[in-house]
Amino acid sequence: MDLEALYRDLHAHPELSFSEHRTAGIVADALAGLGLEVHSGIGRTGVVGVLRNGDGPTVLLRADMDALPVRELTGLPWASTDVATDDAGNPVPVMHACGHDIHITCLLGAVEALAGSRDSWSGTLVAVFQPAEEHGGGAQVMVEDGLFDRVPRPDVVLGQHVTPYPAGMAGAHPGPAMAAVDTMEVTLHGRGGHGSRPETTIDPVVMAASTVMRLQTVVSREVAASDTAVVTVGSLHAGTKNNIIPAEATLGISVRSFTEEVRTRVLDGVHRIIAAEAQASGATKAPDMEWGERYPVTVNDPEATARVNAAFAAEFGAERVLAPGALSGSEDVGNLATAVGAPLVYWMLGGVEPELVRSAMEAGATETDIPSNHSPYFAPLPQPTIDTGVRALVVAAREWLA
Ligand code: ZN
Ligand code: ZN
Repeated sequence: MDLEALYRDLHAHPELSFSEHRTAGIVADALAGLGLEVHSGIGRTGVVGVLRNGDGPTVLLRADMDALPVRELTGLPWASTDVATDDAGNPVPVMHACGHDIHITCLLGAVEALAGSRDSWSGTLVAVFQPAEEHGGGAQVMVEDGLFDRVPRPDVVLGQHVTPYPAGMAGAHPGPAMAAVDTMEVTLHGRGGHGSRPETTIDPVVMAASTVMRLQTVVSREVAASDTAVVTVGSLHAGTKNNIIPAEATLGISVRSFTEEVRTRVLDGVHRIIAAEAQASGATKAPDMEWGERYPVTVNDPEATARVNAAFAAEFGAERVLAPGALSGSEDVGNLATAVGAPLVYWMLGGVEPELVRSAMEAGATETDIPSNHSPYFAPLPQPTIDTGVRALVVAAREWLA
C-alpha cells in the first residue's frame, strides 16, 4: 500500500462522526485485499478486520475514523474543502483536525505488515476502525452493537493518538493517562420583560454571568492542590436584543478529571452552584441540567504499558520514547478494554517537525504556539509520523503475538 497517498486521500475527504461511509468503504476494501475477515457496519459505520493465525493471544488494535466540523486553514495541497451536514441539518466545513486520518493510515499499514509476516507470529489480530470518537461515543456504540459477539475477545487493547510532540516519537503514560470528560447542557429559567423594567423580571443573563464566575471556584476552592480538574463553560447564549430581558439562558459545560473521587466532587459542586445561583436570583423554576457526552478516565495498565514502552525503546532507541504525562484531553478507547476486562495501552505519537518543537522551546514559547489537535492549522508531518505509527503498532502487537 502507498500509505502516504492513502493518508492524503483520507485527509482530503474527512467525514463527521457516524458518517464515515467513504472512509469505512476504503478500510473494508483494504482489509479484504490483505486477506482479513471483514465485519462492516458494527456500531453503524465501524469496520473490523480479523486475522486468525493459529494459537496464541488476541490483540485488538484500534483506530478512530471521524473528523470535525472545522474549516481547514493549513494551506496544504491535500487540505480538505469538503462540506458536510451537521446533526441540525446545517452545512459545515469538515477537516481531519484531530489526525484520525493518521490513525487509520497507520493501522492499515500495521495490518499489512503483520499479514505479510504471518509465519513469524501466532495468535489473532483484531483491527478495529471505530466511528464517532469525537461525538457520539462510537466505542460504546460498537460494544452495544455486539462487537465482541462477532469478533474474538482481546487479551489486550492497543491504540495511539497523534499529538503535537516531535514526529518520530511514541510513548505511553502508565495509569490514568487521559481525563474523564462530562459535558452538560444547562438551561437557566428566568422571566423575560422590558429592559427598562428589570424589577418585573428575573434576569437570566445576570444569573448566567454569576453562575459562570462561581463555577470557576470549584477547581480553585474545592479541589486539592495535589489533584487536578478543569471546568470550562464553552458556550453561553441568552437574548436577542439590547432592550429585552430574555426568559432563559443556556450554558454548555465540560468537566475534566482524572479520578472518580475528584470527578464526583467537581460534578457535585457544579450541580450545587447552578441550582444555588438560580435560587439566589429568585428563579421560580429550577434549572434543567442535561448530560451530553461522557467519557471515562483513560487508564493505561501499568504492566502492559511498561512492556510497550520497552518495546518502543528497543525498536526506536530510548531517546525516541515519549513520556507524555497525563493529558487533559479525553478518549473513549477505554470502553473497548473495559467491556472485556482487558488491559489497555494507549500511547501518544509525535506528529510535529522536531526542529519546530525545538525552536519553539528555545524561543521560550510554549507548545501552544504549535497548532494543537482541533486547530484549523493542525497539520501532522506525514513522515516520519506514519512510519513511526505503523512500527509502533506492529512492535506493540508483537509483544503479545507470540
Ligand atoms: Zn479530537
Ligand atoms: Zn482524536
